[in-house]
Amino acid sequence: MTTIYDVAVLGAGVAGSAAAKSLASQGWNTVLLDRQRFPRHKVCGEFLSPESQETLSRLGLLDAVHALSPSVITSTSLYLESGGVIRLPLPGAALGISRYRLDACFHQEAAAAGACIREGVTVLSAELQDGRYSLTLRSGGQTEVLRARAVIAAWGGAGLAGELLAGRDLSGERRGVGIAPFVRREAVRQSPQVPGLVGVKMHYRIADSAPHSVQENNAVELYFFRGGYAGLNRVEDGKVNIAALLNRGDIPAKSRSVSAMLEEAVSRHSALQERIAGLVALPDTAAAVSPVRISMRPVAWSGFPLIGDAVCRIPPLCGDGMSMALRSAELCSASADRYLRGELLLGDWEREYKAAIMREFSKPLRWGRFAESLLSSALLSRALPALARLAPRAARGMIQATRLHVR
Ligand SMILES: Cc1cc2nc3c(=O)[nH]c(=O)nc-3n(C[C@H](O)[C@H](O)[C@H](O)COP(=O)(O)OP(=O)(O)OC[C@H]3O[C@@H](n4cnc5c(N)ncnc54)[C@H](O)[C@@H]3O)c2cc1C
Repeated sequence: MTTIYDVAVLGAGVAGSAAAKSLASQGWNTVLLDRQRFPRHKVCGEFLSPESQETLSRLGLLDAVHALSPSVITSTSLYLESGGVIRLPLPGAALGISRYRLDACFHQEAAAAGACIREGVTVLSAELQDGRYSLTLRSGGQTEVLRARAVIAAWGGAGLAGELLAGRDLSGERRGVGIAPFVRREAVRQSPQVPGLVGVKMHYRIADSAPHSVQENNAVELYFFRGGYAGLNRVEDGKVNIAALLNRGDIPAKSRSVSAMLEEAVSRHSALQERIAGLVALPDTAAAVSPVRISMRPVAWSGFPLIGDAVCRIPPLCGDGMSMALRSAELCSASADRYLRGELLLGDWEREYKAAIMREFSKPLRWGRFAESLLSSALLSRALPALARLAPRAARGMIQATRLHVR
């Protein structure tokens, strides 16, 4: 007899795994599907904000994260294009942990709660028939149909365009698929100001010869330069992660591998050049994603609920994408539980969930976009450090406005 799952979660990044863990813990027969195989390196600054830890705690995942021995990050340093620097304390301790470890850890937690995890499975389409969803999947060259009472889409911001294999030439073939029946255009609308962004990341170890100040640094550093910015912070085991967001149009044709794009980024900021001199690249840790689309506004529903980056992508410099992904997973799994119990009709679930997302996500998204344009402005970058010194409360207030506040 064909299994009808209570919930199918499409995409097993942080949002999908957290939702699957939560629903399986509540006793629902949950399947978590991802086209990739884990563990895998993923483009991310790997900075878990103080706000995200509150959500992790409510989701019962914080102890598991601490068990991975993340680095502790207490301040931020913004290196502007003009050469000026703004240093600010963080509102609480943040954690640095690789997505390689974090996502695999969340899978273990979801599996321990009873979720069935299937990797290497691409979701091709979803249809609602007689109150049940039929998902068409492709796995190992075979096509199959899976049925579920509820579906949660956690396929990330690049769910439609596809992620690129680490190190692959960006002009190469993409692996993505469309989930045609349900996806609206607004869900993937691209910011007109920042077309064609590419994200890259790589891990480094600190060279033995590096000065003590480099070894002990517990800040998240952001470097702004022409055509993009890069973030650097320590993760577990003393390693350092560098992630950069670059305007693809600005990258010379010869620099299309991850390491070449990172070298290009480094060459555009003298402070970053000095910083990287004390670091040694770790092989097989590179990842790239393109295009990176920054959202104009959240879109929480598209035939079924969306969570994580599928709802919206906040500018990466805010370091709050995972926090929003986890919070949307928390909100969605609470309402999914009520839907599955028969306490909510599909239409009520849609209304409630959309309202909650708009209430919590619209403001940080708007302010995040504003902060990104301010800090990336070559014109303003000369004045900003002085302004931040003159009005430190205003500077901190703006950063606070980009944060997710649970209501
Ligand atoms: C350069 C950069 C730096 C960033 N830095 C930070 C940071 O420091 N801190 C922070 O909090 N956030 C950061 N972010 C944002 C953060 O990475 C995302 O917000 C987070 O990964 C969202 O998680 P998610 O689970 O929604 O999506 P993802 O982690 O992208 O997971 C989506 C999953 O869905 C799968 N999938 C997609 N389509 C299908 C399909 N059709 N079938 C099956 N599976 C599918 C994918 O394989 C993927 O595993 C950064 C982003 C970028 C681009």
